[in-house]
Amino acid sequence: MTITAEQMRFWSPAVRELEPYVPGEQPKIQNLLKLNTNENPYPPSPKVVEAVQQVLLNQADALRLYPDPDATALKQAIAQQQGVDVAQVFVGNGSDEVLAHIFKAFFVQEAPLLYPDITYSFYPVYSQFFGIQAVQLPLNEQFEIVPEDYKRPNGGIIITNPNAPTSIALGLNAIEEILQANPDSVVLIDEAYVDFGAQSAVSLVSKYENLVVCQTTSKSRSLAGLRVGFAIAQPHLIAALEAVKNSFNSYPIDRFAIAAAVASFEDQAYFEQQCQKVIASRETLVADLEQLGFQVLPSKANFIFATHPQRDAAQLASQLREQGIIVRYFNKPRIDQYLRITIGTDEQNARLVETLKNQILV
Ligand code: PMP
Repeated sequence: MTITAEQMRFWSPAVRELEPYVPGEQPKIQNLLKLNTNENPYPPSPKVVEAVQQVLLNQADALRLYPDPDATALKQAIAQQQGVDVAQVFVGNGSDEVLAHIFKAFFVQEAPLLYPDITYSFYPVYSQFFGIQAVQLPLNEQFEIVPEDYKRPNGGIIITNPNAPTSIALGLNAIEEILQANPDSVVLIDEAYVDFGAQSAVSLVSKYENLVVCQTTSKSRSLAGLRVGFAIAQPHLIAALEAVKNSFNSYPIDRFAIAAAVASFEDQAYFEQQCQKVIASRETLVADLEQLGFQVLPSKANFIFATHPQRDAAQLASQLREQGIIVRYFNKPRIDQYLRITIGTDEQNARLVETLKNQILV
């Protein structure tokens, strides 16, 4: 739909300038293999399904009433699973919303926000939305974050670990180096993919008063459709997030989401088993793609970032699409010859490999 300049006069001036985030598509194609938005190929814990059914059966009348604005039961379940105090937990409607509140709460400063040139593409969107000046620091030639680069004046730092879309993880030593070099700014570690093999910085929260760790139930807990994300930090930072949240939407987590997410955090065995399955499938997929001549960056996520020296990545993406397989392609400097491929089940990954081998790379 095209909006005319005349119609635009109703829009707030700043909204006219926005460049919104474009989510990965959710197409309705038959026999589609969807490897483009890093969703989990397995269902959530059966206990999650049970918990949602229980809300319907026993609490339907309670839907008249607002949910707990603090989602205390959920914060308690997260605190227990993460081994932190409940006062160190903040929850929101997906980690995208938690990130928005983090930007507003900490990063609207005189000095620029720092993050890598290749990272989650929502950060520039939020930077513009909140009027934050950002400086993007180039990853090195191997697509790694260089901690030394983050020792310059700033009003906040974001490190995605593992980084997206590169899939490469950063060690906790490097994260501590960045935290120690920046005692007066908040350092956000976005751990959307941490459960697939990287080290979590949650263990550092009690030690660093400037650390915020953000995680989600969307990937490792198979709950992208539920929209529950959370942050862990010391209580003086959580207080700022609560102030922002209660100035925006006091009830971001509904009754179903609270019950479902609590059940997920209580089923640690299922969670660990599913993560291990994805990790094992990733290693098989990487080996198979390398056999076909792909170069794959070392992944600690539920996706891989791969390039083929003889094939154009955009063309590969469109050829896969013709075969009903959707992967993510970014038409951006430095990464325009790479494909980001979500790890599916072993059967799904085999379909990808067979399609590449028999129909595309022939
Ligand atoms: N952080 C990163 C790095 C991501 O890739 C995503 C998923 N697009 C998110 C945060 C947001 O995830 P969600 O809102 O589903 O929690």
